[in-house]
Amino acid sequence: MSDLLSGLEKFGLDKLGAAGLYEDNKKKEKTTKPVPEPPRKLEEEDYLFDKTYECPVCYSEIKARTVRTGKVRLLRTDMDLRPVYEQIEPLKYSVVVCPVCGYAACSRYFGGLANFQREAVKEMISTSFQPPEEQKQIYTYEEALERYKLSLANAVVKRARASEKAYICLKSAWLLRSMGEHLDREAEGYEEQRARISAQENEFMKNALEGLVTARQTETYPMCGMDQTTAEYLIAVLAMNDGQYDLSARLISEILTSRTANRRMKDRARDVKEVLIARIKEKKTKAL
Ligand SMILES: [Zn+2]
Repeated sequence: MSDLLSGLEKFGLDKLGAAGLYEDNKKKEKTTKPVPEPPRKLEEEDYLFDKTYECPVCYSEIKARTVRTGKVRLLRTDMDLRPVYEQIEPLKYSVVVCPVCGYAACSRYFGGLANFQREAVKEMISTSFQPPEEQKQIYTYEEALERYKLSLANAVVKRARASEKAYICLKSAWLLRSMGEHLDREAEGYEEQRARISAQENEFMKNALEGLVTARQTETYPMCGMDQTTAEYLIAVLAMNDGQYDLSARLISEILTSRTANRRMKDRARDVKEVLIARIKEKKTKAL
């Protein structure tokens, strides 16, 4: 060692000669504990599993990507009841598609077809359906939206009730809102894309409202998994957002005076009432 570093005296570094060249490294090796790997961040795929269904049209056994509900955490609920989860967007996985015949529906409505519905799907969907080339493990927003549109086409063909079609439109609109929120704000054309998505959301929401209003007059509760108060609350919010203030106000006051509505729904209805009053005032000011 002293030979290797000989001549350093002139730099005033003569004391270094005493140390072995690799002494330091050896000590380090001995004292450094292996760094534990940070826990792996859960990927979208980790929140999903394959659920098996029997297609009610072609009777194939199929698998659908499904969210493990126990694993995701609800962050908040928007005024129109859209649930927002922390880790992933479960709305992307609501639609079950049969890759064999093209029948598609939200999981809630997948089974239980009448004969005439089965025949209609076969004739109008299956004959021209092109199966996807591969079964994806996770879906992009665009792919998820396509699945909703396929389920809506099926709903029209099988002459589904208004509530089912409204449910698809509502969830499509929520999905689009989520899509807009997850856009890259720095990306080129962000504003245009956001506006385009928002316009699509409004279109689906208008159709959801129309379907729910029809269903309220022609169907019984529960509707889309909602009891009467919840459904009427939702109609009130959608009507308000659509500028139908009279309908919204009527439904909100019914909920606030209802004997059966629970406190949580009444609290929500009070929040809507405040927004509604503000919007009506705004409209009057503009009209002046
Ligand atoms: Zn099928």
